[in-house]
Amino acid sequence: KQRFPNEPEYIQAVSQVLPTIEEEYNKHPEFEKANLIERLCVPDRVYEFRITWVDDKGNVQTNMGYRIQHNNAIGPYKGGLRYHKSVNLGILKFLAFEQTFKNSLTTLPMGGAKGGSDFSPRGKSDAEVMRFCQAFMNELYRVIGPDEDVPAGDIGVGGREVGYLFGQYKKLTHQFQGVLTGKGIPFGGSLIRPEATGYGTVYFLTSMLATRGIELKGKKVLISGSGNVAQYATEKCIQLGATVLTLSDSDGYIFDPDGIDAEKLAYVKELKNVERGRIKEYAEEYPNAVYHAGERPWHEKADIALPCATQNEINGEQAQALVDNGVIAVAEGANMPSLPEAIKIFQDNKLLYAPGKASNAGGVSVSGLEMSQNSERLSWTAEEVDNYLKRIMNDIHENCVKYGTGADGYINYVKGANVAGFMKVASAMMSQGIV
Ligand code: NDP
Repeated sequence: KQRFPNEPEYIQAVSQVLPTIEEEYNKHPEFEKANLIERLCVPDRVYEFRITWVDDKGNVQTNMGYRIQHNNAIGPYKGGLRYHKSVNLGILKFLAFEQTFKNSLTTLPMGGAKGGSDFSPRGKSDAEVMRFCQAFMNELYRVIGPDEDVPAGDIGVGGREVGYLFGQYKKLTHQFQGVLTGKGIPFGGSLIRPEATGYGTVYFLTSMLATRGIELKGKKVLISGSGNVAQYATEKCIQLGATVLTLSDSDGYIFDPDGIDAEKLAYVKELKNVERGRIKEYAEEYPNAVYHAGERPWHEKADIALPCATQNEINGEQAQALVDNGVIAVAEGANMPSLPEAIKIFQDNKLLYAPGKASNAGGVSVSGLEMSQNSERLSWTAEEVDNYLKRIMNDIHENCVKYGTGADGYINYVKGANVAGFMKVASAMMSQGIV
């Protein structure tokens, strides 16, 4: 806290992890001697740079760019790029820290990283987004590589942006390499990568429900966000017979009492991915739905909540509303969407609660599979990738149960995920000496 006083999200993420691994850590005095905690909390490297680009009116714009290479004890640095006006160093450091544990949990050989910019793609033309991505890559290309650091998408960085970034990387290096994941299918992308985070979150949810003999079928689900993760979480819920009642964006949320079916979801995909519109337009298209400006969906009555928008989007009061309304399970599609007081309420009330680093690890897992396919110069079928994804989510769930089950039988998924993720990275760091 003294060293990084201006990075509240980073302090929040670290403070949430450390108490949960303390017991396991104390069993290993050699960790303390190697000052492992400090070495694991402070990123290996932080790059910060200016990005200059020209908008459609000919104005010269500048933004900040970052890449945090947090830890590469178990594999090359790996983690997404975020473009959002709220991006700053502390937010990316929290995300890179979390990514290290998450990637460890996936069972694949990937270290942790994160990057991005305070550039907002909102309202920008396609040509502006392309010029910005090219300017961003003009700096980033020096520090990434298929065996060094492999970025991917995150908020504001989807298939379009990854394509432009990849094009510029090739232009600068003359190399066609698996240096980014989330690429288009014709140039080395993996089938099921766009679906992976949302689908994986729902696979994890079904495993959690199964520990209490409950089925997802017939359940009512609240989902926040309407981007990549929210769309595919909705799709999988629909496929498995649940009813999704809400979606949101940073301006508000829609409640559809009839449920968002496959046809309505297709409309949302077109609205958000192609027209780049706002979720309030859903209520204009489907008049039975109600739009709530400036609010989040957590006061609606349902069985399950899947926060899939952004960090710190559920506070204590909203968590209590979810509990009071009968929610039995919360699985995070987003990273750190629940504030610490919200997590406490979920756990005190014995909800099935999965932190993002466990339940949203499907995205980076399939990114890892994309890296494998690029190395092999092969493409796997959608079925093969989906089966891998299911297996990985199941393994992550089992690891959480192994390390997180308390004396009363309650599974603390936060503890389980943190301990499982930590032990692998710690053991690799110990073997590799003081570096
Ligand atoms: P997208 O950019 O596709 O969608 C983000 C959604 O969240 C949009 O609906 C956006 O609304 C909303 N949102 C963004 N910022 C805020 C905010 N400050 N308040 C309220 N709503 C907001 O991103 P993704 O779906 O890819 O990412 C969503 C979350 O999932 C993030 O936490 C990300 O880190 C996490 N995640 C993503 C993975 C992936 O594979 N994509 C992998 C693992 C985690 P608007 O359109 O108004 O900006």
